[in-house]
Amino acid sequence: VLPDRLRALRQLLSRLPGVGEKTAQRYVLFLASEAGTLAADLGAELALLPERIRPCTRCRNLAEVDESGAALCAVCRDPRRDPSLLCVVARVQDLLAVERSLAMRGRYFVLGRLLSPLDGVGPDELPLEDLVQRVREDGVKEVILATPPSVDGEATALLLARELASLGVAVSRIASGVPHGGDLEFSDQITLGRAISGRRSVEGPR
Ligand SMILES: [Zn+2]
Repeated sequence: VLPDRLRALRQLLSRLPGVGEKTAQRYVLFLASEAGTLAADLGAELALLPERIRPCTRCRNLAEVDESGAALCAVCRDPRRDPSLLCVVARVQDLLAVERSLAMRGRYFVLGRLLSPLDGVGPDELPLEDLVQRVREDGVKEVILATPPSVDGEATALLLARELASLGVAVSRIASGVPHGGDLEFSDQITLGRAISGRRSVEGPR
């Protein structure tokens, strides 16, 4: 009984994280009947997303594309950031969580994914070359590994520590405090702040 177009929209919305079929249907009915200009405003913003928002060319955080076609994120453009300190996170959500903790005055590198042998994600799927290039070009002195304290997060941190060992930078891992298997995104900012300031040095391979 719902028009095809609205069913299609419901189907699209239900692909968003955390949105089930029922919620998607509520959104569709709201957008179609009561929302004033919301549908048009939302549509216009969404249409711009693919061309206006890109991964930052330096750190892979999300960035707005400027007139020259370059995409440099707000952190990388901020001259007050300490370029010698680099915090490696798995996802943009984690970067945002670390930012909220106010414990990080350096820059970031977003991996985009974690090592996950069970899901077929091996070392070749991680942007290791880009990370090494970042460390070299920015004169990084310390890399803080802020991957989540899950099995995949720990495996990724180990791999990165090994890769970075030969570059002569200090490598540290965020302290425990974030619950094991936990998500940085859902850690409160004080806990996460303590995990960063209490980070421990990671020993390279002997
Ligand atoms: Zn950036």
